[in-house]
Amino acid sequence: MLEYDLITEMFEKGQKINFDLVLQKVIQDWQTQAAHPRILLHSCCAPCSTYTLEYLTQFADVTVYYDNPNIHPRMEFERRKYVQQKFIADFNERTGNQVTFIAAEYEPSQWLSVVKDLKQAPEGGARCTLCYSYRLDRVAKKAQELGFDYFGSALTISPHKNAQTINELGLDIQHIYNVSYLPSDFKKRSGYLRSIEMCQEYDVYRQCYCGCLFAARQQGVDLKAVNKKATEFVRQHQDETFPEIQYEN
Ligand code: SF4
Ligand code: SF4
Repeated sequence: MLEYDLITEMFEKGQKINFDLVLQKVIQDWQTQAAHPRILLHSCCAPCSTYTLEYLTQFADVTVYYDNPNIHPRMEFERRKYVQQKFIADFNERTGNQVTFIAAEYEPSQWLSVVKDLKQAPEGGARCTLCYSYRLDRVAKKAQELGFDYFGSALTISPHKNAQTINELGLDIQHIYNVSYLPSDFKKRSGYLRSIEMCQEYDVYRQCYCGCLFAARQQGVDLKAVNKKATEFVRQHQDETFPEIQYEN
């Protein structure tokens, strides 16, 4: 289990921590030990999982965990869940990988009770830190329950998300559940650019807001229109299944 203090020693005093270099070090250790670990990777929709899966599946078995009670409205949650599965199915088919998938129940009221005092906080501020923490905690808990070697987050690929904060939270949460956190900064080494490219290659839906009601309101997103489109989308795809994906419980 990597500790934050040990990680800071890898860098000069005052130097920003490059979590991509930390990930490289972890992967080198796997290779030295001929290990091929199992990772439970949190993702809140398909775009951030694209390059992240392309990269990690070279070294590990990856299961995507879709646990996103922050997403509003429910039909948008369902739409993103479908799109995530569709991407995994297409990715498995094209690459021969066997990425598996787990979806959590939609439980927005629990998430709301955690962030309710921070409705007015700007995107990227204190509400988002709580939101990352809440979801990472659930991912770690699930990883422990199912015996994964690591839990991690695809969100560090997004330039809109604070990778430093996500990594610091993960490195603390790993102690609560005694399952190792996988540090990352997937946007490095052109990861973010590759994710955009892959969204085009796989025709992946990119949503226009992060997920929660509060950020959507702040951005002036028309949530009625979002709900209408998402409802129609879910209705059109409700009978589809994904034989290319194995589902874990
Ligand atoms: S950070 Fe945004 S783009 Fe990335 S998975 Fe979450 S909602 Fe999708
Ligand atoms: S803006 Fe995104 S990360 Fe921030 S609280 Fe809302 S859903 Fe969570």
